[in-house]
Amino acid sequence: MLTLSERIILAALVGLTVVVFFIPVLKRVLIMARFRPAHRSDSLFRRFFYTLSRVFLQLCTLKNERPWTGAAHLLVFYGALAFDTMTINHVLEGYVDGFQLFGQAVAGHLFSASVDLFSITVLLGVIFFAVKRFVARPRAYNTGSADSALIYLFIFLAVTSYLLFKMFSLSVHPGQESWAFLSRWLADRLNLSQSSGQTLSLYLKLSYWFHALVVFSFIAYVPHSKYFHLFAGPVNLFFRKHQPSGSMPPLDLDKAESFGADRVTDFSWKDALDALACVECGRCQDVCPAFVSGKALSPKMVILNLEKHLLAEDKNIMSNKENLPSLVPGVFTEAEIWACTTCGACLHVCPFDIEHPDKLLSLRQNLVLAQGRFPAELRTFFHNLETYGNPWGLPASRRATLAAELGLKTLSENPQAEYLLWLGCFGYFDDRGRKIAEAMVKILRAAGLKFAVLGAEEHCCGDSARRLGNEYLFQELARSNLKALAGYNLKGLITFCPHGYNVFRHDYPPLLEMLGDFTGEEKERIRSLRVISHLELLADLLDQKRISLNSPAGSSSIYTIHDSCYYGRHNGLWLQPRKILRAGLGEKLKELKNSGEHSFCCGAGGGLMWTEEKAGQRVNHLRSEEIIKNGSQLVATSCPFCLTMLQDGLRDKGAEEVRVMDVAEVVASVLRG
Ligand code: SF4
Ligand code: SF4
Repeated sequence: MLTLSERIILAALVGLTVVVFFIPVLKRVLIMARFRPAHRSDSLFRRFFYTLSRVFLQLCTLKNERPWTGAAHLLVFYGALAFDTMTINHVLEGYVDGFQLFGQAVAGHLFSASVDLFSITVLLGVIFFAVKRFVARPRAYNTGSADSALIYLFIFLAVTSYLLFKMFSLSVHPGQESWAFLSRWLADRLNLSQSSGQTLSLYLKLSYWFHALVVFSFIAYVPHSKYFHLFAGPVNLFFRKHQPSGSMPPLDLDKAESFGADRVTDFSWKDALDALACVECGRCQDVCPAFVSGKALSPKMVILNLEKHLLAEDKNIMSNKENLPSLVPGVFTEAEIWACTTCGACLHVCPFDIEHPDKLLSLRQNLVLAQGRFPAELRTFFHNLETYGNPWGLPASRRATLAAELGLKTLSENPQAEYLLWLGCFGYFDDRGRKIAEAMVKILRAAGLKFAVLGAEEHCCGDSARRLGNEYLFQELARSNLKALAGYNLKGLITFCPHGYNVFRHDYPPLLEMLGDFTGEEKERIRSLRVISHLELLADLLDQKRISLNSPAGSSSIYTIHDSCYYGRHNGLWLQPRKILRAGLGEKLKELKNSGEHSFCCGAGGGLMWTEEKAGQRVNHLRSEEIIKNGSQLVATSCPFCLTMLQDGLRDKGAEEVRVMDVAEVVASVLRG
């Protein structure tokens, strides 16, 4: 179809496009190579299939709370695949007259028909996106509009120029069979068959070049824009974190080159890839309790600012310069770093599994460990944990006294006990937490479990210290607890606090392997200890009929559930509380607007229980308003932090009549016998 000189020009165009395309790709790879290592090469098959399912079923966009956007993505994604294939056809057609990638028979006809069909779906998808971005203008889309406009224009021109080319192609070869129904219909409507052969051939060639220029400009532009996510996104999905979202990697305080992240290259290459994969959809921002309540933090901007910084410092990073600027306050402010509750909502909704909280926690770690910068109110908190092993600065011996008041034996008094009931700082020292502890004791006794507590041997689990960046303090507390646990042969550790559960399950095991002061036997004893959440335990006890509840038939009032982030989103425990409550309270469960995996944080996670919330609205007020709107008279929780925050929030909102009870308290209140 093309003359020799045109063929040379086309080859040069393809070559130029490849070069312009790969320069930014290569640059980004070289940048990432300068970052710290991250170990993401395990379970390659699992990674591969996960990525395939997310990309080809478009679960990355369909999984979340924007179903229409997900559907539009699906249309555009499959359209793009069809058009990419058609581009190969288009180039080869320039060299071989009448070339058809899938032949002139049924397969080729089906392909032509599908490209025509996808022309419609892609145009519909692009119109949807353009209306949403430029007419509806949601807050989530507050960045990248010029980039988006250009991409929408490219897509529009690519589709229409293809249809134009196809129309002329069909008119030049009127006898040729083709199932390109849309192009044929358009050619008929425009009466192209009436034009002279010479005119049609000229238009055919012009439309050929127009389409080629649009498509190759589009391809060359993509990696220079936020649409780089088309490539970085699937790669990011492949290298996603396999550990539970609430876990933190251990930090070897003796060997680490830096404590957390001070400069950008203190992050790992996966953090850099996260930054490059962001599509700026703003889903993370929409669900972030800090952002929604008016704090300085937007998880989307954390990722975008990280990307902006690493691209601005590209030359320094690639040449391994030592003098990279500090990230705080140049790139991130302390206000945003200290606003994160580590609830994981951002990570959970992100189409590319970008790990926002880990970055904020690395920044916190550096502020606390390397620079001694943290909110003033944490000074007492850290001091109390360091000196007394609890946040309130009460003597450790009080734990033994309080355990005795509950009629409980310690493990040292009763080493035959099979289970350790971890009372935690709230269970020992907080009045409301003690009520939950009493409920648990009542249930465990009714079930006939042989259990005891640690008493004075117990220290704070260290969750808050760790998530507030004080890794040193966390490791000290964890070491003391691990030493205590190593002294007993136990089947399980039962906890009624999701923070303790998460830290024992995910943070202690790698730390145990890292710490050098445990014998092989001690390590083995701790490794065999099963960490059991009270939600799992209560559900199992009901299943096994080891406890029975009074019939809920007479119960008439509706109730609701507030899922804690650390049991629910981070550890997938949201079915158990529903099952337990249905058994205890009946079927009148009325879910909150944000429930289960989409639950909204109470505001206390990430150690923020111990800080003052000065900016914007209080997160617990927002959650309390949601509970009040729900109309339930009882809200069941499964975390002492959540319970405290909601009780305070409901009181502040004048809704003290709404009762807040832990799931264990509900069960204990209807326990039979
Ligand atoms: S973990 Fe929660 S609070 Fe932190 S950035 Fe993500 S959504 Fe916001
Ligand atoms: S981080 Fe993820 S959810 Fe947030 S804007 Fe980027 S792609 Fe969207």
